[in-house]
Amino acid sequence: MSVMKKLFLTLSVAAASAAVASDQLSGAASMLPEANYSNGKASVEEVLGYSIGTKITSPEAMSRYFEALAAAFPDQVKLLDYGKSWEGRTLYYAVISSAENMANFDNFVGNMQRLADPRKTSQQEAQRLIAETPASIWLSYGVHGNEISSPEAAMMTAYHLLNDQRPQTKDWLQNTVVFIDPLQNPDGRARFVQRYYMTAGLEHSADRRSAEHNEPWPSGRTNHYLFDMNRDWIALTQPEIKGQVDALLKYYPLVFVDLHEMGGDSTYYFTPEARPYNPLITEQQRETLNWIGKNNASWFDKKGFDYFTREIFDAFYPGYGASWPLYHGSVAMTYEMASARGHRFERKDGSILTYADGVQQHFVASLSTIETVSERRQALLEKFWNYRLSAIKAGEDDEQRALIVAADDDPAAARKLASLLVEQGADVQQAQENFRVCGTDYPAGSYIIDKAQPAYRMISTLMDEQVDMARDFIEEQEQRRNNNLPDQIYDVTGWSLPLMFNVDVDGCDDVPRVDSVAVSEGRIAPGQLLNADAEVGYLVRWGDMNAGRLVTAALRQGLQLKQSELAFTHEQAGKYPSGSLVITHADNPDVELPTVLAQLAEQTGATIQGVDTSWITEGPNFGSGNVHGLFAPNIGMAWDEPVSQYNAGHTRYVIERQMNYPVTAIRTDDLRGGDLAGFDVFILPASAGYDRVFNAETVAAFKRWVADGGVLVTLGNASGWAAEAGLLNTKVERAIPKEGVEKPAEETRVDGTEITSKAQLMTEIQAHGVNPDWVSGALVNADVDKDHFLAAGLKQRLVSLFNGNTILAPIDINHGRNIAWFADKEALIASGFLWDETQQQLPYKPLLIWQPMGEGMVISFTQEPTYRAYMDGLNMALMNALFLAPATTR
Ligand SMILES: [Zn+2]
Repeated sequence: MSVMKKLFLTLSVAAASAAVASDQLSGAASMLPEANYSNGKASVEEVLGYSIGTKITSPEAMSRYFEALAAAFPDQVKLLDYGKSWEGRTLYYAVISSAENMANFDNFVGNMQRLADPRKTSQQEAQRLIAETPASIWLSYGVHGNEISSPEAAMMTAYHLLNDQRPQTKDWLQNTVVFIDPLQNPDGRARFVQRYYMTAGLEHSADRRSAEHNEPWPSGRTNHYLFDMNRDWIALTQPEIKGQVDALLKYYPLVFVDLHEMGGDSTYYFTPEARPYNPLITEQQRETLNWIGKNNASWFDKKGFDYFTREIFDAFYPGYGASWPLYHGSVAMTYEMASARGHRFERKDGSILTYADGVQQHFVASLSTIETVSERRQALLEKFWNYRLSAIKAGEDDEQRALIVAADDDPAAARKLASLLVEQGADVQQAQENFRVCGTDYPAGSYIIDKAQPAYRMISTLMDEQVDMARDFIEEQEQRRNNNLPDQIYDVTGWSLPLMFNVDVDGCDDVPRVDSVAVSEGRIAPGQLLNADAEVGYLVRWGDMNAGRLVTAALRQGLQLKQSELAFTHEQAGKYPSGSLVITHADNPDVELPTVLAQLAEQTGATIQGVDTSWITEGPNFGSGNVHGLFAPNIGMAWDEPVSQYNAGHTRYVIERQMNYPVTAIRTDDLRGGDLAGFDVFILPASAGYDRVFNAETVAAFKRWVADGGVLVTLGNASGWAAEAGLLNTKVERAIPKEGVEKPAEETRVDGTEITSKAQLMTEIQAHGVNPDWVSGALVNADVDKDHFLAAGLKQRLVSLFNGNTILAPIDINHGRNIAWFADKEALIASGFLWDETQQQLPYKPLLIWQPMGEGMVISFTQEPTYRAYMDGLNMALMNALFLAPATTR
């Protein structure tokens, strides 16, 4: 104990003296006293009027800074755009190297493209390229907008590289091309900076309770649609990440660093990562991570900065910025600095952490990493080449060498999946004719992925159904759980795109030989209008997002359309599933339907079939009470504290940007009275705390609104609140009591017991009446009751994420219907990891509940169908709830 304390004191003294030394300098020199910035050009002070680390720079000022730097060093800096944020801010990166390397930049790009593809490059040519090509590093700063110091460090790193006169820095730029993305999340940073300076007073407060240190909802962490973009690298839903991926696939930088902040009482974290490692990460890559960690450590030792490695941030989920490049053969890692979350922060030990401390440590870590890349130039290029070679070989040896996605399973999802793989750097082919392989027939238009390609491991991590965590890691987690400690599973354990999109993918050891073309990007393939001059009207098959987008586009254009809640067979056009759409000339007398529908087909991807008769041979006719006239519903959602900002943002994004339909966000404070007048559909996103803002009066008003014909949709644990508040006639479940675990006795003394084994002891100490254990997130199967309009067009089996610990009891038949329920234990897990107890309790519990109430209804998803906007397979169920459900109430 005393040894620890002494060590701690020694380190603090060392850190303090380092701080004193740099305090005597100002501006750039204070960040690295040994640097030589004589004749320095375009410092932060010169361009922005304040010394580096003394102000949290706004996104606009950062752009000005990088433009000034590029203007001052035109031979050594390129500023390139990669898109715009939702709020219209330009996304950009700076490329910095020696004048010579920059003059040959196009060569560099070509060389990296050739090294990246051993199918087109010989071993001999690769050796030549490795000898002459600079190494490269991509530094990405500020993906979380309230993790403030790293973007400032980006400016300092760029300034240093261009201005330090010492030979070592010049050497680095000879050996290395440095990419700096100074600000991945300008919208989040803008939100933070504006709010922070708004709350500051005469002196900046270091008090963690001060307004300065407490962000209102939503925090600056997220982007405009409130996404944690550091989870978006799988599905590429946000422009900030999609644009970055496009750029990375152009240059294949050998090392990628994502720079973050963490809690202010901690120190600094860098690689190597915590367990569990994703098994697709190679030994060679782990060796590189160690090189980088060790060199960082030597710089941190010299500066007297504390740090730690390995304990928290894992490398299992591939959707982090610091994971994604690993699956293309680069190495990637996260750095985390303790956050002052403002200018000054008082730590628990009484010391003051400053903004400048964060800037300096991220700056130093950036430099030490660049140094490693420069010194290991040749080895890193060789490793990259060998990785790409080994990927092709592994693909050739894979038992399922080819993956095939049938074009007719769910055309919209199949197309999106194929495009997404291309966007992720994979080659995908589309068959131009019907073919047969591994005993199955596939129609023309089906997609084929030959895994023998350099992106093999990226394809595997996105497409494989199951990635296992190491056995000993799981055992350790079980042990922790027995001791009532939180588990160390840091994120979801299942993320397979075909499962999340609910698209069947077949594997085959044979690559089909069929006439095919390479797929290019484009998540929506244009649809078509068949029999355009039809006399009576048009039909659209329900069940995929092509049809879903057609509904919203048609409603927003004011078309009249009907939706059949039952399947039917049309005399001329054949069988149509439940939910299919009917658009007739009679309902739209003033509309030039052939022209309008041709445009909508093109834009939404829908196939629209013209029909010359209304005759139905089986199922309801167009005038039946089971065929509902759709109208454009007014959709609202709860917004602000205590709503989960992620679920609110994801849900708004899915409806607005995937379904293309507007949503009105209402602050929870304005919902206390329960006034939902004017809305047809109202969504309560997930929240752990509605009982803090909604009371009995709110609930009563919600009930009256539903009884009058409103559709109330609850998502995730909002459904648990609805059950507890009496809006939904079911109950939230506690954990299944463990065998032998008794209710605690009321008396202060109890009869003596005999405990004869450790196992019995472990049972005796279990608590009674506890909540189910928390689950980080696995993909689970659910079965659907097809005999209900909410299931219109759905497949028999859905895939949902299960995370958290909200499990509802089934609703009884007097009160409503369980439209989808979690599958039987044997079939439950689609991908990922669930505790045994969860596997025991979850089967047959509801995923989707329908409860009629007066003229309206409550629709409850017990999990979040919009989670990270990548659970595409649940979008149609959500569409039924948002558009078909209100039509049935009229
Ligand atoms: Zn972060």
